[in-house]
Amino acid sequence: DPAAEPFLRIEKVTKRFGDFVALDEVSLSIYRGELFALLGGSGSGKSTLLRCLAGFLEPDAGRIVLDGQDMAGVAPYARPVNMMFQSYALFPHMTVAQNIGFGLKQEGAARAIIRDRVAEMLALVKMEGFGDRKPSALSGGQRARVALARALARRPKLLLLDEPLSALDKNLRESTQFELINIQERTGTTFVIVTHDQEEAMTMATRLAVMDRGTLAQVGTPSEVYEFPNSRFTAEFLGTAN
Ligand code: ADP
Ligand code: MG
Repeated sequence: DPAAEPFLRIEKVTKRFGDFVALDEVSLSIYRGELFALLGGSGSGKSTLLRCLAGFLEPDAGRIVLDGQDMAGVAPYARPVNMMFQSYALFPHMTVAQNIGFGLKQEGAARAIIRDRVAEMLALVKMEGFGDRKPSALSGGQRARVALARALARRPKLLLLDEPLSALDKNLRESTQFELINIQERTGTTFVIVTHDQEEAMTMATRLAVMDRGTLAQVGTPSEVYEFPNSRFTAEFLGTAN
C-alpha cells in the first residue's frame, strides 16, 4: 500500500570500502508484508545493502529507519531483523532443533518457550520429525528449510535472504520458491531477497529493484520493470552469478 508509511525507509545510504563506493546514496522504501527482490550483477552492492540493514555494516552516510526506529548504532541482535545466508551456515555439531533454537537460547528464552517455538518452526517448514538429525544427514532442500526455520525462530519483522536458493538445483529451486512465498505470506514477515535470477524475482517478488554499481537502476513491480522502455534488465546487464 503506497499510501501507508513505509515499514523500511532507506535514505541516501552510502557505504565505502576505502575509496571504493559500494553503495552510492541508495534510497528505497519497502512496505510491510512485501516480498521485495534485489537483483543485479555480481559486485553491484546487493549483499552490502543487506549487511547494512542487518547491522553487520554501518553506513558511512544516510539513514535506515525500520518500523519507525532509526537503526543508526543499533547492534544486529537488537534489530527486529534476521538474515538467511546462501551457505545456510548451519552449525554441523548441533541437531536441527538446536540450530533452530540457537538464537532464542542466546537471548535467554526459557526452555519450554524454545521447545514450543522449535516445534512450531519445524511444522512451518514441513520438517516435523527431523529435529534430532544433524545437518549432515539432510538433503540440500531440507537444509534450506532448516536455515529458514532458524532465521524465523525469533520472529523477526524483516527477514533478509541472500541468494537463499542458489545452492539448489533447478527443480528444487522452483518448488522451494513456492514454499518461501507460502511461508512469507503465512507469517506476514517482510522479506528482502537477493537473487541474480530474474525469473525467480518475477515469480516471487511483490516489487523489485535492479542494482547497478552501487545504485538502484530500476524499482517497481515485476511487470513495471519488464515494461521499462529502455530496459537494462537483460542477461548481459545482470551479469554472472556470484
Ligand atoms: P553483490 O552482493 O551484489 O555481488 P557486494 O555487495 O558483495 O556485491 O559487493 C559490492 C562491492 O563491494 C564489490 O566490488 C565487493 O568487492 C566490494 N566489497 C564488499 N565487501 C567488501 C569489504 N568488506 N571490503 C572491501 N570491499 C568490499
Ligand atoms: Mg552478494
